[in-house]
Amino acid sequence: MNRLEGNVALITGGSRGIGAAVALRLAEEGADVVLTYENSAERATEVVEQIKARGRRALAIQADSAIPEALTAAVDEAAAMFGRLDILVNNAGVFLVGPLEDLGPAEIDRTLAVNVRAPFAASQAAVRHMGQGGRIISIGSNVAERAVFPGLALYSMSKTALVGMTKGLARELGPRGVTVNLVHPGPTDTDSNPADGPNAEVIAGFTAVGRYAETAEIAATVAHLASADGSYITGASIHIDGGFTA
Ligand code: NDP
Repeated sequence: MNRLEGNVALITGGSRGIGAAVALRLAEEGADVVLTYENSAERATEVVEQIKARGRRALAIQADSAIPEALTAAVDEAAAMFGRLDILVNNAGVFLVGPLEDLGPAEIDRTLAVNVRAPFAASQAAVRHMGQGGRIISIGSNVAERAVFPGLALYSMSKTALVGMTKGLARELGPRGVTVNLVHPGPTDTDSNPADGPNAEVIAGFTAVGRYAETAEIAATVAHLASADGSYITGASIHIDGGFTA
């Protein structure tokens, strides 16, 4: 499938996990891809090489999403390097969980900076480069809807904020032909939530299908939203969670 031929995509946090799977899938569908990362330069380079092996252009940029100037510069660099920007995937996220008393100002600030301010700032920056058919897709979480364990309040709060952002931006950018959507993954096998982790069996048990998602299963829906096939979907929060919230 070449649904994204000629498009340029920027994915925040594309060095590992869901972001890397999205980067590869969008490249398979024809897009040139820029990905950001915070620390994993080697992993980011590997993803870039895999994308190039698929015949697409690719670039990795070190940019801490908690620093708005770095993020904005990465967006501008992506557009300058490949001449346009069509798709923004706000994927980078931090997962700081624990009892209420243990989450101090540093954890709160970090969570809000990476999970909330960054998607907003990146969207602001990206929209300046987008025309008709532009796409903003953010990665939320199933726990925005169902905070199944104690200790999730801060993380859930940050992901729920994206629901409001998505609806507000969908209204604002609809007239410009840009769609804005939110994908809520369920438990997905990545470094931050391995399918063989100590609580994995219990977590998988909250889904209807009784298992974790593969990252490719999340990427498939992101690709649909990014393509022309998703042209009439905007302002939506889409659960890809194996029935976790059913
Ligand atoms: P991983 O921990 O596997 O990967 C995180 C990615 O984000 C890495 O590429 C990492 O870069 C990057 N990143 C983290 N913080 C920053 C930052 N400050 N600046 C730039 N890049 C950053 O995470 P997942 O793939 O599991 O999660 C991806 C998204 O999906 C997150 O938003 C998460 O909240 C959400 N999600 C995940 C679920 C799961 O079960 N896995 C379930 C629901 C939602 P680096 O490699 O350099 O550290």
